[in-house]
Amino acid sequence: MTRDFFERQRRREQSPVPELWDLLDRVRDPELPVLSIWDLGVLCDVKQTGEKVVVTITPTYSGCPAMETIRSDIERVLGEAGMRRLEIRTRLAPAWSSTWISPEGCDKLRDYGIAPPQNQSDLTPDAGLACPRCGSADTRCISEFGSTACKALFQCNDCREPFDYFKDI
Ligand SMILES: [Zn+2]
Repeated sequence: MTRDFFERQRRREQSPVPELWDLLDRVRDPELPVLSIWDLGVLCDVKQTGEKVVVTITPTYSGCPAMETIRSDIERVLGEAGMRRLEIRTRLAPAWSSTWISPEGCDKLRDYGIAPPQNQSDLTPDAGLACPRCGSADTRCISEFGSTACKALFQCNDCREPFDYFKDI
């Protein structure tokens, strides 16, 4: 895992409002519901000053339509918990990177049948992308664009199953 991930994890562990981070674990990525915004690395920070809650998020990529859904889900989850004064800040720098996906998030992606970003796995770049179903490294890229722009479509030459690969960004 990268420094970015550990910094984010430390911010969460040292937060005086851990219950707000826990609440936000209910907010899922609309395209990959197995991942919370925490797993995905979109949730950067949560702060509370008096009655006001400030949530900072980083979009996965500029203009990703999922971000609007994520924003309204954050408002709904915190609103239901009685938070009335909410501000959602968008942080664009540093830009989101697939290295921000948590280790648990990578495991969840694999269980879901999506190969996690390769910069996250212990594979070397030329070892081939491991099939999330059978583990074979004998795979090939069918299309640079999978079910969403964030993913590419691969096929396993052993079990023949196609699978999405979450691109390194
Ligand atoms: Zn396979």
